[in-house]
Amino acid sequence: MVTIENIKRWGVVGAGGAGFPSHVKFDAKAEIVIMNGAECEPLLHKDKELLRLYPNECIEGLKIIMDLVGASRGIIGIKGKYKEVVDVVKAHLVDGVEVCELGNYYPAGDELSLVFDTTGRVVAPGNIPLTVGCVVSNVETMLNVAKKTAVTTSFLTVAGDVQNAISIEAVIGSTLGDCIQLAGGALCEDPVMIVGGPMMGRFSDDFSELITKTTGGVVVLDRSHDLVRKYLRPKVEYDKIAKASCDGCSFCTELCPRYLLGHPIEPHKNMRSKGFEMTVDQLIAGAEFCCECNLCSFYACPEDLDPKNVSADLRKLIQQKPKEERLSFKPGDVDHHPMLEYRKAPIPKLMRKIQIDQFDRSAPMHKSVLTTDFVKIPLSQHIGAPADPLVRVGETVKVGQIIGRPDPSKLGAFVHASIAGEVTKVDQYIHIKG
Ligand code: SF4
Ligand code: SF4
Repeated sequence: MVTIENIKRWGVVGAGGAGFPSHVKFDAKAEIVIMNGAECEPLLHKDKELLRLYPNECIEGLKIIMDLVGASRGIIGIKGKYKEVVDVVKAHLVDGVEVCELGNYYPAGDELSLVFDTTGRVVAPGNIPLTVGCVVSNVETMLNVAKKTAVTTSFLTVAGDVQNAISIEAVIGSTLGDCIQLAGGALCEDPVMIVGGPMMGRFSDDFSELITKTTGGVVVLDRSHDLVRKYLRPKVEYDKIAKASCDGCSFCTELCPRYLLGHPIEPHKNMRSKGFEMTVDQLIAGAEFCCECNLCSFYACPEDLDPKNVSADLRKLIQQKPKEERLSFKPGDVDHHPMLEYRKAPIPKLMRKIQIDQFDRSAPMHKSVLTTDFVKIPLSQHIGAPADPLVRVGETVKVGQIIGRPDPSKLGAFVHASIAGEVTKVDQYIHIKG
């Protein structure tokens, strides 16, 4: 029987987001466990590929987590448009587990949107899914639980302006450049990357960036691409244009997925704050509930303004206030907007809007694991404290050996060797030569 201690020793963390350590998340009681296979970031396909290739194992992981949290119901959230994958998964269902087919919209994979779409339950602002009896976890995390061994690889999709869009299993500590090479290399003149996905990723032009437990995708674009410009927009520019150009049309609010869930966030008011003298409370009410999905900035705003960054800056301000001075909600305090169903952002339209529709390809899983003869494994790969190194220079390590241990008094996860070899350096990374 798999225990919370096993999951901790294997170093499992959430593979679909900030990497919250799974042994902490699953040490809870819940009625429902939801497998997040929505994969709503355009162009990414690795979760769909994992469900297609390893349906038994993914469902086994789901069942293990259901047992750990005492849930009687498991729901697999996957886009209905992937009919072939839905059929494969349905053919492997076990007692207590069902499939919920999701629409092709963004952000279907946002935890709170997924909880609502699969169960009809609304998570109150600032609350987590557990407050409505749900635990949500990504497909890859569940697969890692079912593998019953140390996490030494990560799955990602390489997409965008590359020869072949592919999904890859890569050893942790290899590089994004290695993965792009495996995809046949970039086709554009001056390639850069949006790491994590086109909507909620981050810009990088460092191809030596490392694969970690939370790497889920990389989109290669030319530096001149309009989406790259949006990512690189400086604060002085988005603040200035917010003041000068926002006409208060409120499209950003009307399409905001958190506003539609009934949360008190109205990005058009945050924009208005740039042009008027308002009190601090008027300025930042609700901004802390922004999930930074970028829908307002990349899709809703007809003026190409940046309400997401304006809201995110205000969110940082409000987070400096003492907790008792902030808005606080409990389950049942809010309900969804009656227009929620009709205002979802369809992915094809979104892809056209951010000019990536020409890169819409299926990204099948590459047959073999990408491995290298040198890895640099970060001791900090996710939310929480870095692990303490457990190996010294000159030591020989095996695949799966523990090389970093979390401080028992802090949130963290074990780190394991992803290749066999000799430790050549120890700093904030463990360097291993195979
Ligand atoms: S980024 Fe914009 S659309 Fe998304 S939650 Fe924040 S305010 Fe709403
Ligand atoms: S959609 Fe754009 S122009 Fe309209 S209120 Fe929002 S930021 Fe202003």
